[in-house]
Amino acid sequence: MTFDAGASAAPTPDILKALKDADLKVTFFLTGKWCEKEPELVKRIAAEGHEIANHSYSHPDFRKISDSAIAEQLNKTENIIVKLTGNSTKPFFRPPYGGRDKRVLSVAGNQGYTSIYSSLDSWDAFKKGITSQQIRDRILERIQGGDIVLMHCGSAPTAKQLPELIEKLHQRGFTIVKVSELVASN
Ligand SMILES: [Zn+2]
Repeated sequence: MTFDAGASAAPTPDILKALKDADLKVTFFLTGKWCEKEPELVKRIAAEGHEIANHSYSHPDFRKISDSAIAEQLNKTENIIVKLTGNSTKPFFRPPYGGRDKRVLSVAGNQGYTSIYSSLDSWDAFKKGITSQQIRDRILERIQGGDIVLMHCGSAPTAKQLPELIEKLHQRGFTIVKVSELVASN
């Protein structure tokens, strides 16, 4: 289970509460800009045992910027998050918009990063006006073992439906883990 930020931080405390209530630790892909605006939330995400990975500094499409700009995007965010939490974001980054090609992957690789995208997008950012129920149904209708599920820290409908989604996934026998645990299990 993964959460990207992003946009608004208002729904994030409810997301954290739902995860804590279910005793889950998952992966957050944060932009450096969001971290600068929300330092206390970043500290809380780390303190509650979640994994924080790199989602660039200002969310550009990496295919459209230079090699050095890609490196700067990753390193700037790494420095901000290390300063706030003491933990590195390496080795995982999620390219904004899924924008990746051979060059992007190679430049990121040289900075110590492996790209992690998603295999199941909840559409909570992609589809305007999507409801909590639609997000939950979309995930529950499609999910298979090993999926990397994408949701967003800024989605109020996501925050609202999360406790029930977690409960339903558990009822169906799924184990919800961090990206690092999923990768290690493969
Ligand atoms: Zn994003």
